[in-house]
Amino acid sequence: METIQTITRTFEFSEYISILEISYILASILFILGLKRLSHPDTARNGNLWAAAGMGLAILFTILFHKTKMEDGSFQGIHNIGWIVGALVIGSIIGWLIAMKVKMTAMPQMVSLFNGMGGACAALISMMEFPRMQNELADMQVATMMNGESLAILLGLMIGGVSFAGSMIAFGKLDERIGDVKSPALRYINISFLIILFVFVIFIMFKTPVAGENWMIYTLAALALIYGVTFVMPIGGADMPVVISLLNSFTGVAAAMGGFLYNNQAMLTGGILVGSSGTILTILMCKAMNRSLLNVIIGAFGGSSAAGPASGDKSVKEISMSDAAVLLSYSQKVLVVPGYGLAVAQAQHLCHELENLLATKGVELKYGIHPVAGRMPGHMNVLLAEADVAYEKLQEMEDSNNEMNNTDVVIVVGANDVVNPAAEEDPSSSIYGMPVIKVWDAKNTIIMKRSMAKGYAAIENNLFYMPKSRMLFGDAKATLQKLVSEIKNL
Ligand code: NDP
Repeated sequence: METIQTITRTFEFSEYISILEISYILASILFILGLKRLSHPDTARNGNLWAAAGMGLAILFTILFHKTKMEDGSFQGIHNIGWIVGALVIGSIIGWLIAMKVKMTAMPQMVSLFNGMGGACAALISMMEFPRMQNELADMQVATMMNGESLAILLGLMIGGVSFAGSMIAFGKLDERIGDVKSPALRYINISFLIILFVFVIFIMFKTPVAGENWMIYTLAALALIYGVTFVMPIGGADMPVVISLLNSFTGVAAAMGGFLYNNQAMLTGGILVGSSGTILTILMCKAMNRSLLNVIIGAFGGSSAAGPASGDKSVKEISMSDAAVLLSYSQKVLVVPGYGLAVAQAQHLCHELENLLATKGVELKYGIHPVAGRMPGHMNVLLAEADVAYEKLQEMEDSNNEMNNTDVVIVVGANDVVNPAAEEDPSSSIYGMPVIKVWDAKNTIIMKRSMAKGYAAIENNLFYMPKSRMLFGDAKATLQKLVSEIKNL
């Protein structure tokens, strides 16, 4: 302990500028550079490490150099270092084990779980700080609203609590442990809870503080948790991605509140970066799904409905492996539309092999990427980058749709909802209005999946019965393997 204090004294430049503050600026720079590097698959892994290094630096320097000014004017270092280091070690081991063990297909659940933990941390900070602040204000006879810290504490608890509870429900849904609860009443319940939450925060702000009176903070925590649950419960079908990115931004904003509270620049920058990038992603997702942000916040859309045309006595056409091989070899333009099944089958390397093989025959193959394909934003980009597919080969949905009429063959690899014409044709469908990749406009469509099972939104897909569609049943990896061999033998 004495050594730590000696180091602290050595590096203290003045009461205002210390090595701690410089380390926070460095950490913030590492966060920003890390985020920048995350925007390209080639640098993303490295960017993650940069940002993690920034966080490590901020934590280490806080432990070593943070000091609190005491009433007598002296400074005191951090206490309970043993507990802090113990918690860090246990948390790091648990996080490392989970991340090492998680299957690629369960990655979205893990991201939701970790996001929820961030929200819980922010909420717990507020719950710890509120009684202290309340007692101080009561002693000084100062109204809660006159204190700058109080709003940060209350918003941190409210947003962090919603993010924690919502992320836990999202985790359960992605892991197929929790189903959707669809009831029109939930829309009104959600609006009511949202209003009650805000009114309650205002009530606490205006209330005269009384020392030891903590019921308000527990009530606010309970309200935030309940709203988090009721807000995510009805959302399902194809609309989960929007909610997931919104919860992400909530966690960032809640952490930023902690940064305000402790006047901690690293926490503030980290929180603002997560909050703002999450908000931008949410807006992009809303645009991609053709939904309004207000509807997301009141949990008013989605839900897996069984709506959609019943398959009835319609039949599907299949294509043989050799016919598929010939069709592809004599095409000029081929588009692969990957979906969640690509992740399940881990067929990305074979897609790349097919792309290289067709290139030797003068066939151009591109990938049409739907913004919500898979189970997390950017899921398909990550998988294809892992297989060394060139970034330029990935085409956005709009571009794919514009070129669809000139595309000879579309191969749908484990995608379902993102190529469902019900989004355009069936107003009763839960995905109605969501832009989709219009693979039915291509000259031929080959659909690779194992069965006639539905996708995440649990609705029928008429694409399978369309005149130009032909099914190639089986696990996508095995099917692509056979297709590649068949083309090689031509
Ligand atoms: P879908 O979930 O709609 O469909 C995936 C299809 O893949 C299934 O129909 C399944 O059919 C098939 N499949 C599964 N395993 C394999 C396999 N081994 N080989 C071949 N096929 C397989 O996926 P999409 O990508 O089309 O759509 C994503 C859905 O998930 C959307 O509704 C989206 O809103 C939602 N979502 C997206 C998130 C995101 O952030 N991207 C987050 C949460 C939800 P079969 O069983 O017959 O093989």
